[in-house]
Amino acid sequence: KTYRSWEIQRVRTTCPHCAVGCQYDLLVKNNKLVGAQGVDGPSNGGRLCVKGRFGSYKFVMSDDRLTDPLIKDRATGKFRKASWDEALDLVASKFMALKRQYGADSLAGFACSRSTNEDIYMVQKMVRTCFGTNNTDNCARVCHSASVEGLAKTLGSGAMTNPIYDITHDVEAILLIGSNPEEAHPVVGMQIREAVRKGAKLIVVDPRDIGLTRQADIHLKLRPGTNIAFANGMCHIFIKEGLIDEKFIAERTEGFQALKKIVKDYTPERVAKICNIDPDDLRAAARIYATAKTAPIIYCLGVTEHSTGTEGVMSMSNMAMMVGKLGRKGCGVNPLRGQNNVQGACDMGASPTQYPGYQPVTNPEIRAKFEKAWGVPLPSEVGLHATDVFPAAIRGEIKGLYICGEDPVVTDPDTHHVIKALSALDFLVVQELFMTETALLADVVLPGRSYAEKDGTFTNTERRVQRVRKAVTLPGNSRLDTDILCDLMRRMGYNQPNLSAAEIFNEMASLTPSFYGISYERLENEPTKSLQWPCTDKYHSGTSIMHTGKFTRGLGLFYPTVYTPAQELPDKEYPLMLTTGRILYHYNTRAMTGKTEGLMEIAGHSFIEINTKDAEHLGIRQGERITVSSRRGSITSEARISDKTNPGECWMPFHFPDGDCNWLTNAALDQFARIPEYKVCACRIEKLPEE
Ligand code: SF4
Repeated sequence: KTYRSWEIQRVRTTCPHCAVGCQYDLLVKNNKLVGAQGVDGPSNGGRLCVKGRFGSYKFVMSDDRLTDPLIKDRATGKFRKASWDEALDLVASKFMALKRQYGADSLAGFACSRSTNEDIYMVQKMVRTCFGTNNTDNCARVCHSASVEGLAKTLGSGAMTNPIYDITHDVEAILLIGSNPEEAHPVVGMQIREAVRKGAKLIVVDPRDIGLTRQADIHLKLRPGTNIAFANGMCHIFIKEGLIDEKFIAERTEGFQALKKIVKDYTPERVAKICNIDPDDLRAAARIYATAKTAPIIYCLGVTEHSTGTEGVMSMSNMAMMVGKLGRKGCGVNPLRGQNNVQGACDMGASPTQYPGYQPVTNPEIRAKFEKAWGVPLPSEVGLHATDVFPAAIRGEIKGLYICGEDPVVTDPDTHHVIKALSALDFLVVQELFMTETALLADVVLPGRSYAEKDGTFTNTERRVQRVRKAVTLPGNSRLDTDILCDLMRRMGYNQPNLSAAEIFNEMASLTPSFYGISYERLENEPTKSLQWPCTDKYHSGTSIMHTGKFTRGLGLFYPTVYTPAQELPDKEYPLMLTTGRILYHYNTRAMTGKTEGLMEIAGHSFIEINTKDAEHLGIRQGERITVSSRRGSITSEARISDKTNPGECWMPFHFPDGDCNWLTNAALDQFARIPEYKVCACRIEKLPEE
């Protein structure tokens, strides 16, 4: 439907789905959202994908929105409506009683990577000042924590090095690894396709045929879980064929000799065997990437979601440093972050080890700075990562958990294990828009507000802080998320007045050197209406390309990465390898996109892609209902037969409750970032018994 200009108001805001951070106008008519129209933002240039165009406003107006606080009667398991006073008093008194009885570290609180920076800052502040623990985290733990950890270790800063425009315009080649941007980051996917049309060479490294493989010069269809062998093989070829940048290595890096020793054994033939690829294709890929004047590495969860995810990320840095492709235009190591504000959730200190701006909680001077600003003593020990909170709850060490806007029952691996952990808690509170699977397990559910009902900021994948603006006020008793948190903090004995989004941002920026120069006022006045951190004073214009001249850590570090296989490989009982991912039409749990009928009509059900040969062997027909089982669970789904995956490998999207692959996935954790191995587990596929 089209509207006349006088009928509608336009409110410029930032897309709440993926971390491309597309800018658009929400169209408002009589306090109702009626559409979204792309505008010329720095990362989207007017483009939007189907999620931004249609999925961004319908969920806000959904009849399924929570409107009142709910308290569960544990005897009947039923929720009843409650007043805010009753609900918040109960939450505050219960958490404080658990703290008195079991100690501060028996509590934990998760922030949401979909929320605004201001909401996230207040969650971690509440956990640290009121709960008195560093047990706070966000769902980057299960998607890109390995990027934060791996890039910080090798380069000094855990974020994308170059902006989106820069890595998709005027580049000679693109090395795309474990990333399917046409589905997961569609507006980046569109720009990569345009770059290829204009002559950029494209190397796709992915276990599956993705849309962009049709545009690729080389597709290395490697076995899931073998990224490190691939990267070491590339480094081997760079050295053997004299393709390394000796000056860059000598002047700007350390640790080259140790890595050189390791990659000596990663000959193209050996790597080809491990990865199930052609050694000549590997050689050709290495030559294209190394000899191109400009060539970014762009990667995503195919690199991070492994039990060796952090080393996988470090192997990306190794490749780029070896050929001198860092700290300059059209190059770099570029993780496409998943959720709209997952970069912000990490920046805002929803982390068990770091305050906002990656300032370590173990540094006494930094802790003293936060103690002075917040007026209370703060814990000096690092907290538990979200993925370690679940086993700790099962062991009885975590008693109370506050979850703001996340749905780990659906998103985390090994669903049985997550449900067991949440059910073992003495007290669970969920602050949400909808009655999610996790909210169903809560003792108290608090209704918050969506991005269209509040002011705030999101930080996109390229470290760009952009405004979110209030467009509508909806009926019901939901409250601003920051007001809920501030009210709760007061009830727990901490003097926290309600603050506006701008006031919260200013408090955060005053404590965070990389944000010192950013304010709402500046965001309004900048030509792009955005700033990229680090932005260290009010005259600083933000940082478009990182590590120019010098790495954040001083010298770039070559980390000696060694390939080790995934923790669970196919065997006689579970003979297939399962890997998971996104599709274009949905976002993560579908809590938002699932409320848009059009998207559900196109893609409404679980399915699994099976290779033609495997299907033939199992006697499975196209579209047939089948059972998929792993050591952790069993689901039913629909068979989609093709050669998109290699024989012996299958792939499932993770959006659908009618066959959710996370009942099957493996919660084996990476040693550094504690990220789970979603991308590889062993499974078995069977025909359903005849009725
Ligand atoms: Fe842009 Fe991502 Fe939103 Fe699509 S989902 S409109 S690519 S920010």
